[in-house]
Amino acid sequence: MLRVEHVDAGYGDVQVLWDVSFKVDAGEFAVLVGANGAGKSTIMKTISNLVQPSRGEIWFEETRLNGIPPNRIIDLGIAHVPEGRQLFPEMTVRENLELGSLTARAKSHRKQSMEWVMELFPRLRERQKQLAGTLSGGEQQMCAIARGLMSRPKMVLFDEPSLGLSPLLTQDIFRLTHQIHQEGLTILMVEQNVKQTLTICDRAYVLTNGKIVMEGKGRELLENQEVKEAFLGI
Ligand code: ATP
Repeated sequence: MLRVEHVDAGYGDVQVLWDVSFKVDAGEFAVLVGANGAGKSTIMKTISNLVQPSRGEIWFEETRLNGIPPNRIIDLGIAHVPEGRQLFPEMTVRENLELGSLTARAKSHRKQSMEWVMELFPRLRERQKQLAGTLSGGEQQMCAIARGLMSRPKMVLFDEPSLGLSPLLTQDIFRLTHQIHQEGLTILMVEQNVKQTLTICDRAYVLTNGKIVMEGKGRELLENQEVKEAFLGI
């Protein structure tokens, strides 16, 4: 469904990604793991074309994504739930959610999408008139995820959805990403909870200094000695 082929990318003169290639099949739950600064968020931004690759190609289904504006990429069916949530704090939960359905395709389904996300996140239904800036950290993350779903994606890019959350709320977020996957969406997730992420994913890629250095089934990588030493402290 998604193919990233030999991508180099970075910021100005600073190259962050080096010849990155990987794929995510339809229906898969794939994850990217790597140390801080390895380039995980940059990969997510490059897929959404918030960062333009200087080399290589990115394909989603039959469409080459290079040069396509981010809003059009959303319309093709890729939702990006960014690190740090990036909600509009002075707007209500409902208004933030509506902003997730601005593209033509999403707009025509706005009512059904709103009902779908409110069912997935009953807490947001209760708090739909509250200003997003006054939500708790966990509720803000739910709102950011729900806003991504409002575009009716086929694939969701989750960038560190559990960042800054308590262990209990992290469990809630993992449960919700699992549920979203069960509903048929394809997932690519970046997560710092490596053990848990490798346990639930179908396929994982390990990124070191902007290069993919390992790939495999999540459970295989959990047993890998290098992964154990680098990420699991074993
Ligand atoms: P983390 O787990 O800490 O979020 P990451 O693997 O997601 O890290 P990136 O955020 O992709 O890493 O950053 C990779 C490198 O690119 C880092 O050295 C970072 O400082 C640099 N970088 C990220 N964003 C920018 C930017 N807007 N301008 C310049 N450099 C950037």
